[in-house]
Amino acid sequence: MNRITCFGGVGEIGGNKFLLEDRGTKVLLDFGKGFSDGSDFFDRGIQPRQVNGAGDLFEFDLLPQIPGLYSEEALQNTALKHSAPEVDAVVISHFHSDHTGRVEYVDPSIPVYCGETASLIHAANKESDSSPLDGHELRTFRTGDRFSVGPMEFVPVHVDHSVPGAYGFLVHHSEGTLAYTGDFRFHGPAGSMMEDFIEAAAASKPDLLLTEGTRVRPGGPSENTSEEQVMEEARRIVRSSRRLVLSTFRGNDVDRVNTFQLAARDAGRRLVVSMKTALLLEKLKADKRLRVPKVGKDVDVYVRRKRSGRLDDKDYYPWERRFLDHGVSAADVRRSQAKTFLHLEVWHFPELIDIKPDAGGAYLHAATEAFNEEGEREESAVRNWIDHMGFSYHQVHASGHAPMPEVGRLVKGVRAKKVVPVHTEHPEAFGALGAARVEAPRKGAPIQMTV
Ligand SMILES: [Zn+2]
Repeated sequence: MNRITCFGGVGEIGGNKFLLEDRGTKVLLDFGKGFSDGSDFFDRGIQPRQVNGAGDLFEFDLLPQIPGLYSEEALQNTALKHSAPEVDAVVISHFHSDHTGRVEYVDPSIPVYCGETASLIHAANKESDSSPLDGHELRTFRTGDRFSVGPMEFVPVHVDHSVPGAYGFLVHHSEGTLAYTGDFRFHGPAGSMMEDFIEAAAASKPDLLLTEGTRVRPGGPSENTSEEQVMEEARRIVRSSRRLVLSTFRGNDVDRVNTFQLAARDAGRRLVVSMKTALLLEKLKADKRLRVPKVGKDVDVYVRRKRSGRLDDKDYYPWERRFLDHGVSAADVRRSQAKTFLHLEVWHFPELIDIKPDAGGAYLHAATEAFNEEGEREESAVRNWIDHMGFSYHQVHASGHAPMPEVGRLVKGVRAKKVVPVHTEHPEAFGALGAARVEAPRKGAPIQMTV
């Protein structure tokens, strides 16, 4: 029996966890952590206990109790007993935690298939912090490759998203074909890749199309900001500023790093990034098909002071030390405010106290606007910091996800017999997108892969 069971990404954005079963072979397509996973029970102050493995997540059905999936460590305090792996592989669409985050609980003897670029991001994360893929054999692919797990053949097809190395898949199983979009948009620098995906998916005449719909909602706005418009807006702000330009954005969004690096360069400024972003850029150099700014040549690296007194190698992690010689300090930034475009994560905002920038600078909030209470609290604190510094505040962002009309364009282009909306809070709104049939998934309830 060929079936797919959605254990996450059901009526929620992120947390994709899809179990494919074909003649006894089992493959997990993404195994991520939902953005609001468990927010009814967990909060900043109440966290699942690491020592309890998967147990605290099982309690609230935040992880499916699939036999032969989890590591011995993850199951040590749970009623589910550890057994030899029954799941043959995990296949990852892209390296964002809502697609990879729960792989940390998976038995390390189960191989993980991911894009070559994703394996480089994994390597950077592992070196600077941790990666949920750590300990697994990584089998990497690129567009043009195919791989089989039992009777299922996977064809990865590149898509455009806000992290490099994002893929959708065509899965040819023993009774037909399933198409899965992963996360996508048409409005990034690699938007034309979406035409490749639509063409390849349509040619395989899929029974099911599993598509994301982050921005699909009834009566939702259809206006959209492209990465190119972010570039224009950034250029305008940078050009008109005579003081420090400061921005918060996700360092693994390499399109955004490129956008701001060019906007800075064209105005005679240098983009200064965090050490974590610099490490990622260094790792991604190995991917010749990506356009990545060179550390030291195109971008500089901000060095946070870890204690008062002289800078000492010993205060920094081994991976950080390589950046110390070419680093930029708070005093350096202060001295060249009109020549600097500084990338500063919100958790590094206290650095501004050392930088002491002159009033009149510009702040670009290059992230999604707050969508929940916690986000609103953080945004209000950010605004207070920006007011305190006497900077102007600009919201400048292009989403990693397609707006509703473009999801419709994909659905109509692929022409699957049935559409299964995932990674969306509004599966019911897909009825208006021109699909032949729509089946909203229910968590844990299998769907036949043939129609
Ligand atoms: Zn996602």
